[in-house]
Amino acid sequence: MPKKVIAIDGPAGAGKSTVARQVAKRLNYLYIDTGAMYRALTLKALKMHIPLTDWDLLTKLAQETKIELLSKNDKIIVICDGQDVSEEIRKPEVSQNVSLVALIPGVREKMVEAQRQMAKKGGVVMDGRDIATVVLPQADCKVFLTASVEERALRRYKELVEKGYQEPLDKVKEDIYRRDLLDKEREVGPLMQSPDAVLIDSTGLSIETVVEKILSLCGEGE
Ligand code: C5P
Repeated sequence: MPKKVIAIDGPAGAGKSTVARQVAKRLNYLYIDTGAMYRALTLKALKMHIPLTDWDLLTKLAQETKIELLSKNDKIIVICDGQDVSEEIRKPEVSQNVSLVALIPGVREKMVEAQRQMAKKGGVVMDGRDIATVVLPQADCKVFLTASVEERALRRYKELVEKGYQEPLDKVKEDIYRRDLLDKEREVGPLMQSPDAVLIDSTGLSIETVVEKILSLCGEGE
């Protein structure tokens, strides 16, 4: 059977990466976490103390930075300029600033180009905000995955606690709300449901249920 391209978009904390990783595993496809790429660049900019308002410098930084996504024992390893940043990119400081970097047209141009390159051979599940609309408009299967803001905040909060970060739930909810707003309102590649994408609201649904729904939508169900 020819290998497909599956695009999963949606707001922060909707469970995209967990679900996308499992769909990819079931189909033996490659999983591409595009959010990790914006996070890696944001981490580098923060470490270099580059003002996030300097769009020219950040565009140049995006052009000079090598970001690789590797798959190892079911985990995605994010390599930025040869260094493993998989854990560091999940820090609250990165989450709070990433949308400011992702606003920049020159940064997006570079990321979109790299993402298209990775999906060239097919057999990929890619998640993000603009995958079905901009990166891979020809995708075979398009899903917009969402959930209530309360549930999304609770999921992110639990993830942070597991990683040892102490953030109050209210703060996590506020950050998610602010990030979604910035992602929705930007000029280039905003977070939006593609008209040909299927909406899945995962509020109250198990991961397995959402995975099965996506597989059957893509004609790959049991
Ligand atoms: O998916 P994740 O929450 O890790 O994404 C982090 C941020 O990266 C998003 O809030 C958004 O600002 C940006 N992003 C984007 N386009 C994508 C993927 C992520 O702008 N395709």
